[in-house]
Amino acid sequence: MTATVNDIRRQFLSFFEEREHKVIPSAPLLPQSDPTLLFVNAGMVPFKNIFTGKETPPAPRATSSQKCIRAGGKHNDLDNVGYTARHHTFFEMLGNFSFGDYFKEEAIKNAWDLCTKEFAIDPAKLLVTIYHDDDEAFDFWKKIAGLPDEKIIRIATSDNFWSMGDTGPCGPCSEIFYDHGEDIPGGPPGSPDEDGDRFIEIWNLVFMQFDQQPDGSRENLPKPSIDTGMGMERIAAVLQGVHSNYEIDLFRKLIGASVELTGRPEQGEDAAAHRVIADHLRSSSFLIADGVTPSNEGRGYVLRRIMRRAMRYAATLGAKDPLMHRLVPTLVEEMGAAYPELQRAEGLITDTLRLEEEKFADLLDRGLKLLSEETAKLPAGGTLPGQAAFKLYDTYGFPVDLTEDALRRQGFRLDTEGFEKAMAEQKERARAASNFGGQAGDDKVWYEIADQHGPTEFLGYTHLKASGQVQ
Ligand code: ATP
Ligand code: MG
Ligand code: MG
Ligand code: MG
Repeated sequence: MTATVNDIRRQFLSFFEEREHKVIPSAPLLPQSDPTLLFVNAGMVPFKNIFTGKETPPAPRATSSQKCIRAGGKHNDLDNVGYTARHHTFFEMLGNFSFGDYFKEEAIKNAWDLCTKEFAIDPAKLLVTIYHDDDEAFDFWKKIAGLPDEKIIRIATSDNFWSMGDTGPCGPCSEIFYDHGEDIPGGPPGSPDEDGDRFIEIWNLVFMQFDQQPDGSRENLPKPSIDTGMGMERIAAVLQGVHSNYEIDLFRKLIGASVELTGRPEQGEDAAAHRVIADHLRSSSFLIADGVTPSNEGRGYVLRRIMRRAMRYAATLGAKDPLMHRLVPTLVEEMGAAYPELQRAEGLITDTLRLEEEKFADLLDRGLKLLSEETAKLPAGGTLPGQAAFKLYDTYGFPVDLTEDALRRQGFRLDTEGFEKAMAEQKERARAASNFGGQAGDDKVWYEIADQHGPTEFLGYTHLKASGQVQ
């Protein structure tokens, strides 16, 4: 029988427990001792102070399955979701850690044994990358795995050199890739089309062996350490013989529920919408369970963006009634045993999603009314001026993809160029304005998010509220 996500998580942790690693439960998504970070985005984050020597380790070796969010800041995969086979905003990172205990040879041996013996992956489907000058790693991969030279790819970019910051622990990485077959577009790592989905990175092994000094020089760490991260959903796809993460058992359940509630099959653009909904349901629910509430700033703003992106896609599926909060029971059923906080917070998650969905529905109603006033002025099959769509977006917070979608359904078109132009002009005005007494510092990250995604996306509701139209 094929292993489920829940089986694979257990199998990974037991493999390392048998090799004297202490199993550590996932830390919350809100970084406990790192205010510079939005959310925990890797398995090593809770152990940062151990790697820098500020805290003593709970054991010389550890293993965990860590909840991660990559939807803002340095790692932002939000816009990839729904469109690549391998990215989520929320995912689980399986990892093994050595705090000054074993190093490169044992890390490579464990990784190879887990993949090819415990998980029985065909070695011919695997290839690895190393940092270009890491001859030691090259020799271990040859000795332990017997990989031919062309399957040990040397990479000279920062993709294969990890550092915690400008100073402190750093070192080369070695990544393990799985070849999903030649009928899928994409080239091997290091090639011009490496961003395709044929060769998928499943595991990153970081060899922390240097201590970067303020002058840029690197000293050898007296006790080098190991940090590894394996994407749970990616390894599940490999072990379940499917290409996309969205085909694994857990996502089949979530997407199945979304299809059933909307009555829209997974076809064409609708398939991507279902994937986005399933993914964002997970990130929103786990964030709410860990105490984040939707708001117009900080972490709550990122949560609101994720929730509204899902709602936007639910709207394109023609969902009349709020959808997201009705998917929560399926999520809790699938993941509640491994993450009891989901069970405890089920009521809160449902209420938070429903409230946000109701607000969004009001926004949609109003936007669609305004849009029909505009289209009434157009001849049949006409084109809506970009300025009009921009006004809907800028003043009322009505997302442009919904405008486009509504227009398409009524046989109209949108002047996208005009919209982009109006958008660029507005950005220019905002930039000019922020030069007066603007401050960077701690808020920088929020400005970056606003910059990437439009500053007023969520102001629509605030505007309506201010004018007394929404309670
Ligand atoms: P990619 O190059 O595919 O974006 P990455 O190099 O950014 O991945 P790492 O930072 O090395 O990823 O994280 C360790 C592992 O976590 C990866 O090897 C991958 O298996 C998994 N992973 C990373 N980002 C995601 C994501 N957005 N969704 C699901 N799994 C992920
Ligand atoms: Mg990435
Ligand atoms: Mg990568
Ligand atoms: Mg990587």
